[in-house]
Amino acid sequence: MTTLEAIIQRLRSNDASDDDWLYVAGDFADLSLSTDADLGSPSYDEDTDEESHPPEFTKRGLCITIDRQTADQCIAWADRLAEAQDNAAAADIIRYYIRFDAWPETLGAPDPPPTEEVFLRMDREFCDMLGDERKDVACKRDGCDRGAVPMSVLCRRHHFENVKGRPYPFED
Ligand SMILES: [Zn+2]
Repeated sequence: MTTLEAIIQRLRSNDASDDDWLYVAGDFADLSLSTDADLGSPSYDEDTDEESHPPEFTKRGLCITIDRQTADQCIAWADRLAEAQDNAAAADIIRYYIRFDAWPETLGAPDPPPTEEVFLRMDREFCDMLGDERKDVACKRDGCDRGAVPMSVLCRRHHFENVKGRPYPFED
């Protein structure tokens, strides 16, 4: 087996071909410097449009992840965050990138929240920016007994629905 650490070293010394991909074994969440990994390229069958991987990689349980250029970018990003050539940081960034298709802002970043939570948090921030509903200015929507938020003739809920074109997601 070849460790991810050895592969990172090969990439650092440019000992890889431009069409190489990073293959790794096991659960991506467990990826570490000692994980079995390798560089190689899939082959394409033009007739069936099927991708096949080096047979010895398949035997080792290696799965294709990111291309060599992306792996290089992960290493460069890790070195920048670590402010040094740091293979452990590189493994950390590669693991995050493979799992979430993004570069984290910090080393050891927690998993990003699921998408729905992200949207809810953005909605909450939007609503918070609207400010408190006024007591002396009623919402213009028929039958609504709430106050309008500053900068709008509507209450928080009705302003949200008016601007976003979808139901207000909160209870308040
Ligand atoms: Zn209203």
